[in-house]
Amino acid sequence: MRYSLLALARHALRGNRDWQPVWRDAEPRKHYDVIIVGGGGHGLATAYYLASRHGVRNVAVLEKGWIGSGNAGRNTTIIRSNYLLPGNEPFYEWSMKLWEGLEQDLNYNTMVSQRGVLNLYHSDAQRDAFARRGNAMRLAGADAEMLDADAVRRMLPLLDFDNARFPILGGLLQRRGGTARHDAVVWGYARGASDRGVDIIQNCEVTGFQRDGDRITGVETTRGAIGAGKVGLAVAGSSSRVAVLAGLRLPIESHVLQAFVSEAIKPFVDGVVTFGAGHFYISQSDKGGLVFGGDIDGYNSYAQRGNLPMVEDVCESGMALMPAIGRLRLLRSWGGLMDMSMDGSPIIDHTPLDGLYLNAGWCYGGFKATPASGWCFAHLLARDEPHPVAASYRLDRFETGHLIDEKGQGAQPNLH
Ligand SMILES: Cc1cc2nc3c(=O)[nH]c(=O)nc-3n(C[C@H](O)[C@H](O)[C@H](O)COP(=O)(O)OP(=O)(O)OC[C@H]3O[C@@H](n4cnc5c(N)ncnc54)[C@H](O)[C@@H]3O)c2cc1C
Repeated sequence: MRYSLLALARHALRGNRDWQPVWRDAEPRKHYDVIIVGGGGHGLATAYYLASRHGVRNVAVLEKGWIGSGNAGRNTTIIRSNYLLPGNEPFYEWSMKLWEGLEQDLNYNTMVSQRGVLNLYHSDAQRDAFARRGNAMRLAGADAEMLDADAVRRMLPLLDFDNARFPILGGLLQRRGGTARHDAVVWGYARGASDRGVDIIQNCEVTGFQRDGDRITGVETTRGAIGAGKVGLAVAGSSSRVAVLAGLRLPIESHVLQAFVSEAIKPFVDGVVTFGAGHFYISQSDKGGLVFGGDIDGYNSYAQRGNLPMVEDVCESGMALMPAIGRLRLLRSWGGLMDMSMDGSPIIDHTPLDGLYLNAGWCYGGFKATPASGWCFAHLLARDEPHPVAASYRLDRFETGHLIDEKGQGAQPNLH
């Protein structure tokens, strides 16, 4: 079913009685050419691009809950490509370009809103670091603008500019950055993949792997064994738990990241704003709620809920940046499970086991990567070679030392 204004009018005239489900809820078959484990944004995008770009349609996406029940449906929906390092910037800029054409490609309203992402700076040293990052972005074909304090004040008059500890001196703005509707991204990719023959199988947890020596030949699931030519893991915060079922120990730790949404208010923040003196980012949803978050909880966990010290930390940062939000009531908060890699950058690669491929290590920035991650993982699965923009995301970089440490924090995953 193609969506259009005409289709909308036709359905309205018929009393909206004959809309079809957006994707098929399939029963597992005995064997697939490719099985993707994980029905988040990355798994579904991979299946969509396998079918649409590579003609590989005998594909199943296995999801232990419902699609989008993981981080894909829990994130703060920020999209951007404001990276410094050559291993990262071309990949995220490719993702940005895919976001820009996504709604037309999927024929689905993913509510991509390029309302701008502004990173504030609070010292001369931070300004210099941001100028360097902006230059790297422009060299890679992305957009970046340095704003002084007056320009920021015109955009966001309610910030606390003259804060004695963290005065706002300016910001690095990426106008093409912004937000997209996370659920719609999941549903749009699911619909596109399902239309092209991909089986989307929910309530199907992978509990083990079938192998023939060092070759993976299928998976064990809560709905029986399923054979596969290739298996791709896209399970985000559960990566280490699922990989260990195949005997692999990954350079990944899982941590909780929380997010918060306030009651709805009138327009207050036009774009996405990040505080440079703490970890706090905020945007306003179309319904008016302020959507914000901060750092991950500092200990390892597989629970999808966080703890109160981080709630306090996030609220303190928010109050330092915009004291006016202290009057707001919080509507909801929740947590998701982050796959924090040792250098803060992702992995899209073969594993040491034949037939098993890995897409992981997205930390708390994988939503914006969804289109490029799917695109590059599909490329790897279909052609057995890395896509050029993801060529640095190798699993063996932790052995060879070719790290992509954007923040320069070293091998401390909770600091990335
Ligand atoms: C609070 C929060 C805020 C965030 N904000 C942003 C942001 O603003 N911008 C940004 O770019 N990123 C953000 N992120 C990060 C982003 O959401 C993730 O990096 C990204 O969604 C991960 O990829 P995914 O969508 O495929 O993961 P998920 O949606 O987590 O998909 C993995 C799926 O695998 C399934 N699974 C796990 N184990 C198994 C198994 N054994 N068998 C079958 N299925 C299994 C899970 O149920 C899950 O559905 C945020 C995350 C959180 C939690």
